[in-house]
Amino acid sequence: MARLIFITGGVVSSLGKGLASAALGALLQARGYKVRLRKLDPYLNVDPGTMSPFQHGEVYVTDDGAETDLDLGHYERFTGVSAAKSDNVTSGRIYQQVIDKERKGGYLGRTVQVIPHVTDMIKEFVMAGTEDLDFLLVEIGGTVGDIEGLPFFEAIRQLGNELPRGRAAFVHLTLVPFIEAAGELKTKPTQHSVKELRAIGIQPDVLLCRASHPIPEDERRKIGLFCNVPAERVIPALDLDTIYRVPMAYHEAGLDVQLLKVFGMDDAPPPDLSRWQQVVERVKNPEGEVRIAVVGKYIQVKDSYKSLSEALTHGGIANNVRVHLDWIDSEIFERDDAASFLENVNGILVPGGFGERGTEGKIQAVKFARERNVPFFGICYGLHMAVIEAARDLAGLDGAGTTEIGHPKHPVIGLMTEWTKGNERVTRSAEDDMGGTMRLGAYTAHLTPGSRVAEVYGATQISERHRHRYEVNTEYAKMLGKHGFQVSGWSPDGLLPEIMEFPDHPWFIGVQYHPELKSRPLEPHPLFTSFIAAAVQQSRLV
Ligand code: GLN
Repeated sequence: MARLIFITGGVVSSLGKGLASAALGALLQARGYKVRLRKLDPYLNVDPGTMSPFQHGEVYVTDDGAETDLDLGHYERFTGVSAAKSDNVTSGRIYQQVIDKERKGGYLGRTVQVIPHVTDMIKEFVMAGTEDLDFLLVEIGGTVGDIEGLPFFEAIRQLGNELPRGRAAFVHLTLVPFIEAAGELKTKPTQHSVKELRAIGIQPDVLLCRASHPIPEDERRKIGLFCNVPAERVIPALDLDTIYRVPMAYHEAGLDVQLLKVFGMDDAPPPDLSRWQQVVERVKNPEGEVRIAVVGKYIQVKDSYKSLSEALTHGGIANNVRVHLDWIDSEIFERDDAASFLENVNGILVPGGFGERGTEGKIQAVKFARERNVPFFGICYGLHMAVIEAARDLAGLDGAGTTEIGHPKHPVIGLMTEWTKGNERVTRSAEDDMGGTMRLGAYTAHLTPGSRVAEVYGATQISERHRHRYEVNTEYAKMLGKHGFQVSGWSPDGLLPEIMEFPDHPWFIGVQYHPELKSRPLEPHPLFTSFIAAAVQQSRLV
């Protein structure tokens, strides 16, 4: 039976609770334990799939096709454990399930209430499929005191009570701010946050205190006293130079040892953190630097491209270089010449996106990369832009475009209404709901032997994650092949182009899927490793 660790947050949001949970998972894993992480999100959307990246940051997609919170990306990157649909739930989905059950008469005429029916549904979700784990880490979104989080806090309180002794622990992440004017760290917000938690029946076992300055022993004791936690379980979590150092820093601060004591596991094997050590060393001591322009639409909110910026960093780790990212709003190229912004970069990446705004600018960026032999990586919408650019400029198809935006004369990108997944036939129509109706999750692709992608992957069959409605129109793709833009990866049924490349360009690859979702610091994704290697080559030429 799994041991449960609940991670709650207090004082303010944005303390990095997801990262903290992921790093703690990695640390326990480094001690040889089998871990899994789950996230409970208190908002009412059924999933984050319909939320704007400006609001919510990236939507992370799992192999089994769930659109989830971006924290699941942190979990995967730190633990290497593939997340699933069953690892993220929102209030919206919980309520939907409760109401569906009520409509079917599943509550046998009883009054349906938050306690026990909603809380039971939450507990069922938390505990499902955890039998063979050593630890299940459950992060609760938001901060303690939020009205909408209450059913989740109540559910984990109940679980803490129902599980056998020594099977559950509560970790509370707080902030110990440094007040400039007083030159002091302040413990009061932490005290208040724990008071709030205790008011709803949860006594934290360990406090993880984010701070910009070291927390003196006296202050730790004070926090411990006011919060009813032993001083040695008040763990400082200081700001760090790189996120990859977090598992080691937590170990040095005693988090794992103290937490294992809560479970009565005093003689657990020590962690092997050597691989994290190596990653940190590479990040801190690169041999060079490359500049990559990311030309997109959601660039003001860096969380919109979280997995992407991480994957680019991983590509840097693999090549022992620092990757400097120039975030460029593609709309700029609709007013100004792209060259002045792209002249000094070693690679150009056009990421995923939706809608019309900024698309002509992205097409300008593709054109620059193609004509000037700058390494180019197009991801999903980025591939669509590359196809449109090639259709217009190389095949002379004026009015080539995507049916995502109006009714182009040459629909080189269009809505696929039917495809196969494994042995199943999937159908879609333009009138379908917006939520959960894209081509989502892992699909296999067959790569053309001898193509650049086959060489990059070292394989001719791959599986990657998708999240899109529109596809490259096969007829036009074949025509573009005659102009040097080749399809080098196909869906197994041969219906959908998955990858296109210019074999005569130093590095020009567009993919229909999102490779960034599967890149990890300990296992950088081959496409990102290869793209950054090409950027390193390019940097030697200029
Ligand atoms: N907007 C495009 C589509 O829906 C691409 C989506 C994406 O880049 N993830 O097909």
